[in-house]
Amino acid sequence: MKLAVIGTGYVGLVSGVCFAHLGNEVICVDKVNEKIEMLGRGEVPIYEPGLKELIDTNVEAGRLRFSTDLADAVNKSDIVILAVGTPSLPNGEANLTYIKQAAAEIGAAINDYKVIVTKSTVPVGTNEKVAAIIAEQTNQRFDVASVPEFLREGSAIRDTLNPDRIVIGTTSEKAQEWLTQLHSPLTDNILVTDIRSAEMIKYASNAFLATKISFINEIANICEKVGADVTKVAEGMGHDNRIGRSFLKAGIGYGGSCFPKDTQALIQIAGHVDYEFKLLKSVVEVNQDQRFNVIRKLEAILDDLQGKTIAIWGLAFKPETDDIRDAPAVEIIQTLLQRGASVKAYDPVATSNFSRLISHPQLKYCDSKEEAVANADALCLLTEWKEFAEISLLELEGLLRKPILIDGRNVFSEEELSQTSFIYYSVGRPNMN
Ligand code: NAD
Repeated sequence: MKLAVIGTGYVGLVSGVCFAHLGNEVICVDKVNEKIEMLGRGEVPIYEPGLKELIDTNVEAGRLRFSTDLADAVNKSDIVILAVGTPSLPNGEANLTYIKQAAAEIGAAINDYKVIVTKSTVPVGTNEKVAAIIAEQTNQRFDVASVPEFLREGSAIRDTLNPDRIVIGTTSEKAQEWLTQLHSPLTDNILVTDIRSAEMIKYASNAFLATKISFINEIANICEKVGADVTKVAEGMGHDNRIGRSFLKAGIGYGGSCFPKDTQALIQIAGHVDYEFKLLKSVVEVNQDQRFNVIRKLEAILDDLQGKTIAIWGLAFKPETDDIRDAPAVEIIQTLLQRGASVKAYDPVATSNFSRLISHPQLKYCDSKEEAVANADALCLLTEWKEFAEISLLELEGLLRKPILIDGRNVFSEEELSQTSFIYYSVGRPNMN
């Protein structure tokens, strides 16, 4: 099939490449010239494991190209996929500016029957708005469909090629037929719904996962006070098939470009129909507070952070990505700096994104994990990159000025720690002094 993917970010680029890999002809479009130029030179603007290799193969095979010319890409395609950003507005609502702009551009370009698919996460009713915007611009026939995206950054290619399910929300038989054909090489588990339910499935799924995270984080906070170990509690809970094991890892809370904005957006969607989503509001509040446990724990050990040097391992909101949108590290580092600490930060791939966001005379970005901890008064681990777990704790102890480790992701085990003299605070597990 011939596809145009509008928006070449984390979702659009990965989806476009994977559809090309399945044998479709794909044009990935973005309005940011530099991105398209980079891709044209064989460079990849985001970090995602395996992406570069898959791009190279499909460009070479002539199935994948990149362009800034939306009209041309729409003209040459049967299916147009919207994968533009839907960031939060200051009140938490989804900002639909990019969706509406892209819809208007599609409407102006459309030359023949097309199926217009929204993959971006959008509030209920948005696909109807997209249809109305396109219809204002053209007399051509077209159908719309909501096909929400569930990929996770860091495992985006695997998730796209092996989805748990595909949701197709449409009222059009033709769109259903084409989209089933497009997705059937990926899975048999294709769920066809009305458009509004498809839009809601995405928000409900993310809100539910966020709820699991905040739930286990609150259990962790109680475990700390009653002397239980949350990792054992989560394991014991997770063996119950009704509960499941995933998303029960206690830590410093969720971040990233989806859960924070999508939970806020769903609270707003509910509010617009006079429904107060009390449970989800608490999930957000718990998550927001959880990251500050790192600061509270540091202060419990060091008293005053003024003049102290704190090493930070991990800036990305999770491992295997360079995405720092809403990463807990942002607020933790800002708070440390406000309290007068100096910060030495290291991340395997997210440093350049982070340094564009925060620059401060007391914040030094380091080229290695060893450089970050050298002569620091304490180390805070914020992202569970594999290379952090692999370090020898005895070696690490020798590098720090004081052997203080706040492990925000429960990376290290009691057994490993017992060989060292670390003062070790993790999440929902007994402290070690
Ligand atoms: P992103 O910011 O990485 O990419 C969006 C891209 O769209 C940008 O490159 C931007 O330049 C481009 N764009 C905006 N308007 C355009 C236009 N008119 N024409 C061409 N290009 C345009 O965003 P993302 O992380 O890929 O997310 C996209 C959507 O998918 C969002 O709604 C998000 O909630 C959803 N989503 C994201 C993830 C994820 O893990 N990132 C997962 C599932 C769903």
